[in-house]
Amino acid sequence: MNKHLKQLIELSELDKTIDGFLPDEDRINGALNALLEEQNRAKRQIEEAEIFITENRVKIAKHETQLAEQSDKITQHSRKSGDLKTEREIKALSLEEDIAREQVAFVNQEIARLQNLEEEQRARIDKLKMRIIEIESQAGETKRQNIDALFALNEKRNAFVLEKEKLIAEIPQKVFRFYEKIRRWAGNRTVVPVKKQACYGCFMKIGNKVYSEVIASQEIVTCPSCGCILYVKEDEKDEDKKAAA
Ligand SMILES: [Zn+2]
Repeated sequence: MNKHLKQLIELSELDKTIDGFLPDEDRINGALNALLEEQNRAKRQIEEAEIFITENRVKIAKHETQLAEQSDKITQHSRKSGDLKTEREIKALSLEEDIAREQVAFVNQEIARLQNLEEEQRARIDKLKMRIIEIESQAGETKRQNIDALFALNEKRNAFVLEKEKLIAEIPQKVFRFYEKIRRWAGNRTVVPVKKQACYGCFMKIGNKVYSEVIASQEIVTCPSCGCILYVKEDEKDEDKKAAA
């Protein structure tokens, strides 16, 4: 097999291994990220609750103004009642008074309901604030644990990075640049095996001419369909020979 192709196969394996540490890193950071997300959510909920309270206060204030107006009416009525002569006048006034009292009762009820809502929101804010404090301490603890886990992970990962650097130093610049150019769009599919005469980058069948070039592996051959670098594993070659025989 072409020496450079062999190096690129090795390089692509190392790249895959190094990339394989990313999910571990995400998993380690995941718990902390979840906590921080929850914290942000709690902060937003507090803001919403505070806005609700402010708007609720405006409503209460309006009702209190109404209440004052109704109370004034009732007071005026009771002053007037002394001057009334006819039964009809007395009746009419008493009716008006009843309506005013009903309205006062209704507005009082409404104020109580709104005040209850405010209480509920205040309790919610207190709970959320406590949760935020809890999260802060949990996040601090998680961060400390993460540092150790990430450090251990990095040590493992760095061993492969070192190996990769050593390998890159052995590969001619031109060959490495060619690999990097493909890797930019193909990622971990830069170097792919050919199985049963199909490219494992795009799963397209490969023409006989290219396939024989890949089997010969004298040169670095790319897939005519997707542009990935192709190689055939030794055992696959044997299979192929068996099939041909
Ligand atoms: Zn392909």
